[in-house]
Amino acid sequence: MAAMGRLGFLAVAVVFHLVYIYSIFDIYFVSPIVSGMQLVSVDRPANIKSPADRLVLFVGDGLRADKAFQAFPEPYPESDEDLIPRHLAPFIRSRALQHGTFGVSHTRVPTESRPGHVAMIAGLYEDVSAVATGWKLNPVNFDSVFNRSRHTWSWGSPDILPMFERGAVPGRVDAYMYAADFEDFSKDATHLDIWVFDHVKDLFTQAATNKTLNRALRQDKVVFFLHLLGLDTTGHGFRPYSKEYLHNIQIVDKGVQEVTDLIQKFYADDRTAFVFTADHGMSDWGSHGDGHPDNTRTPLVCWGSGVAPPVLHPGTIAPGHDELSADWGLDHVQRHDVAQADIAALMAYLIGAEFPVNSVGKLPLPYLSANTRQKAEALLANAREILEMYRVKEEKKEANEMRYKPYGAFGGAGLAPAQRVANIDRLISLGKFEEAIEESDALINLTLEGLRYLQTYDWLFLRALITVGYLGWIAYAITTVINLYVVPTSTAPKRSTSTVLGFLSILAALYASFIASKSPSTYYAYALFPLVFWEEVYAQRENLKEGGRLLFGHMGSASHIAAFAVNAIIYCAVIVSLALGYIHREILTGLFILGTVWPVVCGTSFIRSNALLSIAWAISCLVMSTFTLLPAMKHENVDMIVASGVIMSVIGVLYMIFEPFVLSDFSSESAKSSNHTNSLVARVATGIQVGLIILATIVTRSSSLSIQAKQGLPLGNQIMGWIVLVSSFLTPLLHRLSPNSNFMHRLAMMFFTCAPTFIIFTISYEGLFYVTFSLLLAIWVRLEYRIETFGKSQAASTNGSAKTDKAVSHRPLRLSDARVSLFFMVLLQSAFFSTGNVASVSSFSLDSVNRLIPVFDPFSQGALLILKLMIPFVLISANLGVLNKRLQVAPSAFFMVVMAVSDILTLYFFWVVKDEGSWLEIGSTISHFVIASLLCVFVALLEGVSAMFINGIDVGDGSSQSPKIQANGNKDSKKET
Ligand SMILES: [Zn+2]
Repeated sequence: MAAMGRLGFLAVAVVFHLVYIYSIFDIYFVSPIVSGMQLVSVDRPANIKSPADRLVLFVGDGLRADKAFQAFPEPYPESDEDLIPRHLAPFIRSRALQHGTFGVSHTRVPTESRPGHVAMIAGLYEDVSAVATGWKLNPVNFDSVFNRSRHTWSWGSPDILPMFERGAVPGRVDAYMYAADFEDFSKDATHLDIWVFDHVKDLFTQAATNKTLNRALRQDKVVFFLHLLGLDTTGHGFRPYSKEYLHNIQIVDKGVQEVTDLIQKFYADDRTAFVFTADHGMSDWGSHGDGHPDNTRTPLVCWGSGVAPPVLHPGTIAPGHDELSADWGLDHVQRHDVAQADIAALMAYLIGAEFPVNSVGKLPLPYLSANTRQKAEALLANAREILEMYRVKEEKKEANEMRYKPYGAFGGAGLAPAQRVANIDRLISLGKFEEAIEESDALINLTLEGLRYLQTYDWLFLRALITVGYLGWIAYAITTVINLYVVPTSTAPKRSTSTVLGFLSILAALYASFIASKSPSTYYAYALFPLVFWEEVYAQRENLKEGGRLLFGHMGSASHIAAFAVNAIIYCAVIVSLALGYIHREILTGLFILGTVWPVVCGTSFIRSNALLSIAWAISCLVMSTFTLLPAMKHENVDMIVASGVIMSVIGVLYMIFEPFVLSDFSSESAKSSNHTNSLVARVATGIQVGLIILATIVTRSSSLSIQAKQGLPLGNQIMGWIVLVSSFLTPLLHRLSPNSNFMHRLAMMFFTCAPTFIIFTISYEGLFYVTFSLLLAIWVRLEYRIETFGKSQAASTNGSAKTDKAVSHRPLRLSDARVSLFFMVLLQSAFFSTGNVASVSSFSLDSVNRLIPVFDPFSQGALLILKLMIPFVLISANLGVLNKRLQVAPSAFFMVVMAVSDILTLYFFWVVKDEGSWLEIGSTISHFVIASLLCVFVALLEGVSAMFINGIDVGDGSSQSPKIQANGNKDSKKET
């Protein structure tokens, strides 16, 4: 397989990693949705009505719990009195104080709108793959409270309503939505909520004249759903402390009051239940998505028909409170927290509908205005509904497994579910309601655990298989590198019929078991890769031996071996700290500070002859080390943006002045005598690039000031921004008119090409990072080259004859090249983590792309964010490409070493993936794994990019510089000896 060479290797790398990333979906993200369950509802005698005839669900999208209940001064004060803190949602608050029940609804990650709504309306926690599949449509149809209702009217955003409308029986759910471009991120968004309230009012006004509508509204089991997106939008745009967000709370409260009054008046029967909550919270920096408590805690206030009145403890702190609710002024009212899916069970109960079939919500009994008997019966029905889901899932698993091992609590020594239900039934008929409630509660918990048991049934086997696969890849990649770049003439792979048959029979046995248990087709691929890899490694054993001899053969003495061992330990420590760097960005700071002393390792004579370069390296490392100390969450800082724009422009002007000097390797003698054609065209092209940088700075400054002043993004600024962005990427074409193959020229050109884009996307210090990173990379390439030639010259001076004279096109890889690959990995990682935390999506604020697309549009905005993230990688890959060429190593050799080594990271993350604990931990460990395994694919792509950028460049290692450096080196080494 090694014969396939470079391209084949890259293809295998990409395919293998993509397939193996998918394993995480087979292990962790198996959809919890099944079908075939029978419907379960609370049994009531025919003459007993359900707790409510209808239900109104208000969802304040992105309303975080504390903001809903705390007191603040009037957001837009008109008098001194307005400065006294007051509660901004007095109506909703009065429901908690006097009429209903309140608490905090705890959501799970990802704290996004879609999973939040699915949890509270369908009662299920969607797997993350569903979130990735699409926000607007259902990847799988699931049942919901709306689908169980007689009819549901819903108003709100086109991002949310369609999934419930299309998931339900056709015609059952009406959705009234504004157009998508109504959601403008850069402006006050209360109009979104006012739109919803106005349209609800319209519907009831129409009912006065429209008899069909009037009759429809007066049926039982009716649901009204008001999706209020304003808070989410103002939260993103202005953050939850802003007067805009707080004012929006007032608007929502007023609307909720008006709609409540209107509905109470329309029906005049007190048979309406009201639920007010949120899909997720909002972090202090205006984002959500992760498991931060600010994102997971949302308010829940229920009142109206069927809902219990507040439990008051005058003069004391009532149960349920903690430090979160200490400043809400609700101390004497008992607080009842729920899990978000419990809201679905509660709503189904209130309107007397069946529980949605996929619901894992547990009925929050304190919210029910019912006696203990009714509560016991309701909770038992709830338990039977969840058991029904368990039954269907277990049947499916049993049918597919060769040797199914049943869930311990329900099989073997434990009581079967049916017996448990019968026991609870008996307790109820005996009047032991409290006991029945306890038993039902325990049964629900057991069943939920059982569902998890079924969900994680295959984990052990799959994890073992995947681990063997990654180890196989690392071994295979190293074998290929040794074959291609270390061993001068590789021997043909040795295969015997018996070993091939051995590998084939293992594969056949695995496939047979997959067929028997009807495993997903991806399992076949998971099993194929490790066998192919290990078979190849085994067949190449002769080359491996030879490679080992070449790489390690010189280590004769014990001191050599000890030095190697120390190096190997440092190497592994750096890789492990890279892994820890995913969680603690500051670790990169430590690595860069350590990196400052790197030139010292090469000896004092090296430092002396390269003093300026070594100092420049140390300084740029120190500057780089500061970025990972700065917060990943950034506030917009216009001064910082302008400062980085100015620095980039100054660099541009300096480059234009000193270009001949730079291009002749910073040597003034050869600059004078240089025949570098400084054509007018090239200078004009560079001038245009610098002009674009200045223009980008001016436009960005004006755009962000305008957005900060809440005047939206002026159309002129938006157009100018796009023009600068697009034209800056076209400027390399100008340089084509006067080609210059000097590598420094090429790197400078790339720096100027990407600079305007980076300024447009900069929120705060990223522009400074861009400058520092570019300088560091350029210095790194020069330094590596000097070290290489320094080593050569020393070897030459001691051996007497210069081996470099030999016209070797590519030198074989040496053990020391592993260090170059490690540096590359550290730089890659710092490109990921210096301006944000790649492992936490919420740290990437949409502020930066608001200057080009001010309207919420996750896909286009996401694409622009990715463009911003990718720019440093383009620079890094071009620099490594140049380095590859300058060190005369075969193209892609370094990239391949990185691809082999980077999966040590992947395996590390695969092993630490959490299957238990908080959802935050599970979610972030999984995302680390995905990022680490994509790294290898990414490096493969970067190699392609670098090949493109360095195509046809002249790295200048020919006649002019090398002898000079060698001469220097000789001089120094003579001095030393
Ligand atoms: Zn939301």
